[in-house]
Amino acid sequence: MAPVDPYLILEAAAVLAFLGVLIWRTKVLDLEGTVAALAVGAAVYLTIGRGGVVVLLIFLAVSAVFTRIGYERKRALGAAELKGGVRGWRNVLGNGSVAAGAAILYHIDPARSHVYSVAMVCSVAAVFADTLATEVGLLSRGKVLSIVGFREVRPGEPGGVTLYGYGGAALAGFLTWTVYAFGFPNPLHPFKLLVATMLSAIAGTTVDSVVGQLLQGRYRCSACNTVVEHPEHCGQTAVHVSGLKFVDNHVVNAICALTGAVVGVAYFLAA
Ligand SMILES: [Zn+2]
Repeated sequence: MAPVDPYLILEAAAVLAFLGVLIWRTKVLDLEGTVAALAVGAAVYLTIGRGGVVVLLIFLAVSAVFTRIGYERKRALGAAELKGGVRGWRNVLGNGSVAAGAAILYHIDPARSHVYSVAMVCSVAAVFADTLATEVGLLSRGKVLSIVGFREVRPGEPGGVTLYGYGGAALAGFLTWTVYAFGFPNPLHPFKLLVATMLSAIAGTTVDSVVGQLLQGRYRCSACNTVVEHPEHCGQTAVHVSGLKFVDNHVVNAICALTGAVVGVAYFLAA
């Protein structure tokens, strides 16, 4: 395990401080979310380097833009991100823990560093894809079908998929690839990396939908009688109706990230 270059630490501190203020002031993340994002960003910056941080940044920025497009319509559907789209630390850790873990392994096991950089990039491709699938899918006016059984479900329901959504997922996989493949020198063959990010994007989004439909906890609000993802609604405790209580949206996101990393690495090692 090589020591981290002190100049890189200074650079990372300066860049991340600037980005932290920007992310917080533009309300992409709340204060706790920004602190969590800086921790993930520092782990990636000090190991994988600038290219990895740019991938994380594109994910955050493009997701924030798509979250805000059609926000009023999404809110009317009851499917918008809460708090005007400002995301918190649970969201950051659900989406970013696998990337941070891969970055730490990159540092402690340098012999396999290329595998961990693929894992990091592909985990981001998956959660980026899942985020865009949701935000773009909610803009579609067509039917939303459950991924298991193809029944019509309401927009925003965990497990619901649309063609638009898959278009968003593919866009995220492609954007992840362009940034990492062209923005910075890296040890990966560009075409293999493109296949890896696209596979991870589609697989991560699909697994996220399946787990969301079959395992995620659901609750019925006794005030408005709506089935919701959160154990609280209308200012009171909602009644648990199905799924596992510990599998909330953030756990599903972490499973999505892990799926992306595993699929990306499996492809990379096999190809
Ligand atoms: Zn309610």
